[in-house]
Amino acid sequence: MLIESQLESLAIFSHAPAFREGLHVGRPNIGRRERFLERVNDMFDRRWLTNNGPYTQELEQRIADLIGVKHCVAMCNATVALEIAIRATGLTGEVIVPSFTFIATAHALQWQEITPVFCDIDSKTHNLNPHQVEKMITPRTTGIIGVHLWGRPCDVEQLSEIAHHHNLTLMFDAAHAFGCSYKGQMIGNFGDAEVFSFHATKFFNTFEGGAVVTNDDELAEKMRLMKNFGFSGYDTVTYIGTNGKMSEVSAAMGLTSLESLPEFIDTNYRNYKQYQRELEDVPGVHLVIYDESEKFNYQYVILEVDELTAQLSRNQLQKVLIAENILARRYFYPGCHRMEPYRSYFPHAGLLLANTEHLAKRVLSLPTGTSVGSKEISVICSIIRLAVRYATEVREQLQQR
Ligand SMILES: *Cc1c(COP(=O)(O)O)cnc(C)c1O
Repeated sequence: MLIESQLESLAIFSHAPAFREGLHVGRPNIGRRERFLERVNDMFDRRWLTNNGPYTQELEQRIADLIGVKHCVAMCNATVALEIAIRATGLTGEVIVPSFTFIATAHALQWQEITPVFCDIDSKTHNLNPHQVEKMITPRTTGIIGVHLWGRPCDVEQLSEIAHHHNLTLMFDAAHAFGCSYKGQMIGNFGDAEVFSFHATKFFNTFEGGAVVTNDDELAEKMRLMKNFGFSGYDTVTYIGTNGKMSEVSAAMGLTSLESLPEFIDTNYRNYKQYQRELEDVPGVHLVIYDESEKFNYQYVILEVDELTAQLSRNQLQKVLIAENILARRYFYPGCHRMEPYRSYFPHAGLLLANTEHLAKRVLSLPTGTSVGSKEISVICSIIRLAVRYATEVREQLQQR
């Protein structure tokens, strides 16, 4: 495109990149390493490395307390946690999910030969649109999995009502929403179960890890067996199970990360407010806004680029940032329905996903977390500002010709 070559030829974008080392989205938040190493030493002394060890039990208890939920079942990652929760709740046939999410939400269903039925989102909240959800229900539908995207809660009330009315299981992929609340109650208490991810890129990490939380005693017990091959005693297997266990070294990391949670939130919040301040008057770019009256982790700084106003597209802006070594990401482009195998299974899914398709072209995730400082954010914001200003000037010059 003409404007792209023009942008790249501008002096400001042809000097050495603004950052010598890549500024990545999702660099891990790391707590106090000496606390972690102490725990690892104790772990070696105990020689208890996995299989529901003391750290795993302690982590489950602390998370359950933090969230005010009855059961936390820690697992090796959120994808397996989703799969186990899907099996334990007995989902089959079709399950309604958003397409605007990380691919694991859909894969966790398809892996078990359950059809993910992609439902459109609300373009303001980026979450499932309950009216659309209702339209996607068929006689084969057994459940709904909402995703609290960027940590912002789904419309839990309406989704619960729909699930209740149609006798469907309701779960939430809460991979982004650890430490967040909905109407004053912590995420983790809604639907039949909620699933957290503790992957290294997430707000709270255990290297790799995840958990299902639920207030359902029977469901929790079932998942505890399922994540350990279905063993209910040394020589007794009760269910088909898998290996979904969390290791002790992960739990040690989790306990250490938990101790630093307030610092992670403070840093994320400070970063988010700075981005908000410094991008406020840049035409055509808007930060996704969070409800500050709720508990929130501010782990995602999400920019929406309105091409008509900014005079450059999200993809063009991403190119400019990457040239400066700012590795902004297009989460969750192009949407699950445009990735395999779903693209081949449902080639026309996009027809019912207008908001998903629209948003997937506009959204850019910017670097934040404890590895990103205020100076860096200032530079990122001024590059965005410059890119928009130059794009506007180039456009004006072209129009005058
Ligand atoms: C990260 C993520 C997952 C998968 O988590 P893992 O712990 O990496 O398996 C699932 N859903 C969403 C929305 C995610 O962002």
